[in-house]
Amino acid sequence: MLQLDSHPSGRHFLQIPGPSPVPDRILRAMSLPTIDHRGPEFSALGLKVLAGLRQVFQTRHPVVIYPASGTGAWEAALCNTMSPGDAVLMYETGQFATLWQKMALRLGLVPEFIGEAGTDAATGLPLSWRRGVQAGLIEQRLRADSGQQIRAVCVVHNETSTGVTSDIGAVRRAIDAAGHPALLMVDTISGLASADYRHDEWGVDVTISGSQKGLMLPPGISFNALSPRALAAMASAKLPRAFWAWDEIVEMNKGGYWPYTPNTNLLYALSEALDMLLGEGLAAVFARHQRWAAGVRAGVKAWGLPIQCADPAVYSPVLTGVVTPSGVDADAVRRLIHQRFDLSLGTGLGKLKGRMFRIGHLGDSNDLTLLATLAGCEMGMKLAGVPLAGSGVQAAMDFFAAHPAPAALQAAA
Ligand code: PLP
Repeated sequence: MLQLDSHPSGRHFLQIPGPSPVPDRILRAMSLPTIDHRGPEFSALGLKVLAGLRQVFQTRHPVVIYPASGTGAWEAALCNTMSPGDAVLMYETGQFATLWQKMALRLGLVPEFIGEAGTDAATGLPLSWRRGVQAGLIEQRLRADSGQQIRAVCVVHNETSTGVTSDIGAVRRAIDAAGHPALLMVDTISGLASADYRHDEWGVDVTISGSQKGLMLPPGISFNALSPRALAAMASAKLPRAFWAWDEIVEMNKGGYWPYTPNTNLLYALSEALDMLLGEGLAAVFARHQRWAAGVRAGVKAWGLPIQCADPAVYSPVLTGVVTPSGVDADAVRRLIHQRFDLSLGTGLGKLKGRMFRIGHLGDSNDLTLLATLAGCEMGMKLAGVPLAGSGVQAAMDFFAAHPAPAALQAAA
């Protein structure tokens, strides 16, 4: 059990790919007094965060906020739009895609789980867990669905278990090329506010996201961004829903209120996070994560270890999966790093258990916290006897020195 009074001195390095380190500014905002959620002040807060979220999702349409983790928002997406027995096409990119597919089964849907077959020759790891969604496979399957029985295509934008992103615009084009009416549902729980994401432009019907990743909030709220088609689908969707039902929430949100007691202090946090992210500008936020990711990858490459994502075009800006040599239990290395250096790394999930660990580069981070993270990894791997080709810390230092952050250049000018 966590003993807060015996916590080691200094900063805990929370380098898992979410929950991400929360900026002090956001923690302070959360400590404001809780207010009446039916009172006049609340409406201003509600309207502000709903408008800000629309900017982050890059949509003109409603975004629903749930006092729930991302899993709840997954369920909301399905139960608001689908009926028992509906066929859904889901793409296997990793553990989170797998969990969403299991949820679809539990809800009484008929998910078809597709993906690239086979394993990668170099690592023996499943191919579909190393590359993004192959939109051609989706197009092929939809073309074969001559009776247009498939009601939705579900994909994960930033697969947190692997560090691989997917080209959502390409999935939209594949659906359109097949002339298929299926709804497009996208999980960007770990991509939002770190990786470029465009709900409207990419023609997404339901986008699912959460608070504890790029938005830099603690866990506890999650989102559905909707399209007009998704809202219309509610009328004929027969899966039971009450708490998750969009219609009442969207209606009450027009005045800045919710049909139930919203998560007031997390909404303060969200308001602060939106000020920070929109103040910086989304393009700058995305570029900052890309730069961090490139620095971390330079480190991993210098160690001579494979990156879980095998396609450089879809490297995640949010996290990097590090594959350990065969025979090395990546989880034992991860535990040793935690014990010795108070540094938490992401574990290998599902088919990758014991094969890799994940470094999160999101939330309240900077070049030096990422270098410290790489130092913890490097020291831990050396202690565990993992053979390394060179110093990842040195390579990352060289990268960050050679590629200064635009904000640092501005400050120096
Ligand atoms: N989908 C993705 C891509 C995730 O990364 C996660 C959590 O890490 C989830 C879904 C599940 O979200 P939650 O754990 O907040 O319920």
